[in-house]
Amino acid sequence: MKVTFPHMGHFHITGKTIFEGFGLDVVVPPPCTKKTLNIGTKYSPESACLPLKINLGNYIEAIELGADTIIMGGGVGPCRFGYYAEIQREILEDLGYNLEMVVLEPPDVHLGEVWDKVKYLMRSTWTQSLKSIHLAWHKTYAIDQLEMELHRLRPREINFGDADNIFKHFLIEIESCSTKNQVKKTADYYKGELSGIPLYKGKPVIKVAIVGEIYTVLEPFVNFDMEKILGRLGVEVYRPLFLSQWINDHLFGGLLPIKGSKKAKKLASPYLNYFVGGHGRETVGHAVELKDKVDGVIQIAPLTCMPEIVAQTLLFKVSEDFGLPIMTIYVDEQTGKAGLTTRLEAFTDMIYRNKFLGKKEEIVTCMGI
Ligand code: SF4
Repeated sequence: MKVTFPHMGHFHITGKTIFEGFGLDVVVPPPCTKKTLNIGTKYSPESACLPLKINLGNYIEAIELGADTIIMGGGVGPCRFGYYAEIQREILEDLGYNLEMVVLEPPDVHLGEVWDKVKYLMRSTWTQSLKSIHLAWHKTYAIDQLEMELHRLRPREINFGDADNIFKHFLIEIESCSTKNQVKKTADYYKGELSGIPLYKGKPVIKVAIVGEIYTVLEPFVNFDMEKILGRLGVEVYRPLFLSQWINDHLFGGLLPIKGSKKAKKLASPYLNYFVGGHGRETVGHAVELKDKVDGVIQIAPLTCMPEIVAQTLLFKVSEDFGLPIMTIYVDEQTGKAGLTTRLEAFTDMIYRNKFLGKKEEIVTCMGI
């Protein structure tokens, strides 16, 4: 069995660690590129959301490298995620690929089913498999912690790119760590490297939160590495969604003492008090939660993403209630980096002028489509 899975940010490091620990051969798809997007777009229904298309491209690229089994997450609720797997299975069958698809439903909703699938996948002992989950968790958490520091450093570093170079080497090294101690040592070493970066002292920095649909928030290929663009524009990014939080919320039942989405859901309730699928409710709650910490909020989502469209309509009200500039960005296969950069420049320029140049007339709600 040669398994593969879709990309989403740094998930390949987590996934590879877990499934290799299960005793499986793992084929990590090549990183998402224009080629991945073109393959996915060619074979997907036009109206499908962008993550379905790119994931399909990931699978086909991995199949060409020898993968014969796809492991993917399932979904529940009112949005389309619940039938992603079926559509992708049919497309791949129509294309003549003979492969198996193992769909892991959210463990907090279908625990028994997930359990059966995990047992089916396991080729090693329980001890070894549990160890690999434990190790994968520590890797994921360490990556997220360093990425938060990266967000803080980018707008302040004298030589733009220093922090990203260190983070790139950190990712390569952490992938090959085989014990929790190695993970800790590697993370400590790279934290030290980051702390040695020359920074501007007292540089005016604005703070912007990125909220929205999890795939577009976490996958730099689809958001055009928006966090890096913002860093270059002198913006410290606050991102309330990280993979470790998702794992803690959905896999560990929120038992670990790290920040989860409970508070955001509570804060969203005056605006939206029920589940609308995806991360719609969290998007609204995160904007409210961060209103005093940031100077503006960017919501990002795939074009036609239903939960985020619902959230967008409520973000108008959040923006009005707290005088918080909020911009919404939808992405699809037609989105270009130049257009996105222009919008980010305009949005952050408005915030900057308001915050540092006293242009009070510039306080406006900035919503986009
Ligand atoms: S959350 Fe949005 S992008 Fe994801 S499957 Fe649902 S509608 Fe599509």
